[in-house]
Amino acid sequence: MPVLVNFKICDNSKDCSGITACPNKVFLWNALKKTIFFDNAKCTACGGCVSSCPVGAIKVAKNQKEFKKLKKEIREDPRKVSDLFIDRYGAQPLHKAFFISQDKFDEQIIESSKLVVAELFNDKSIQCLYCSIPIKDLFEGKDIKYRKVAIEGVALLERFNVVSLPALLFFKQGKLVSKIEGHFVPEQKLELDKKIKVSFK
Ligand code: SF4
Repeated sequence: MPVLVNFKICDNSKDCSGITACPNKVFLWNALKKTIFFDNAKCTACGGCVSSCPVGAIKVAKNQKEFKKLKKEIREDPRKVSDLFIDRYGAQPLHKAFFISQDKFDEQIIESSKLVVAELFNDKSIQCLYCSIPIKDLFEGKDIKYRKVAIEGVALLERFNVVSLPALLFFKQGKLVSKIEGHFVPEQKLELDKKIKVSFK
């Protein structure tokens, strides 16, 4: 009874931190249905999973009353995943939930069943900190998995033939279907929007 997941703000992927955080294997990944599920009968309400989720989507209720209250809160939560995209295109990450190290690229992006947008950036590009476009403005309402990757060395650049940073790479079922390269200042947002629309086709 104790565990609830707010799937409105959870990108429901097999790299869910609850799967690794729970000592009782309550959280599991259904590879067939491509979804997280949890076996509450095994849960001891220890709370260990709650702090593991970087977007706060995991809740644990201590009793029936709290369970009902949390369920209502989730039901009434107006947010969606894209509301959590506080990062700015090309600039240093602001929300750790979407930032991954380069060695997690395949696991989180290539092996994902979702439409994934991977932003490659080089955090030394000061320019991006001051004039960059909010990711939320670019992907508002889009059902995507967004991840931000700090580029080290040339491996990923050569692998996807990227010549200028920052860059947005679009993956469907692990296949690169489109990419957008280079810095866009806020005045160029419409131009970038158009390129993104084309990338989603
Ligand atoms: S509360 Fe504890 S036992 Fe229950 S799912 Fe979370 S980590 Fe597992």
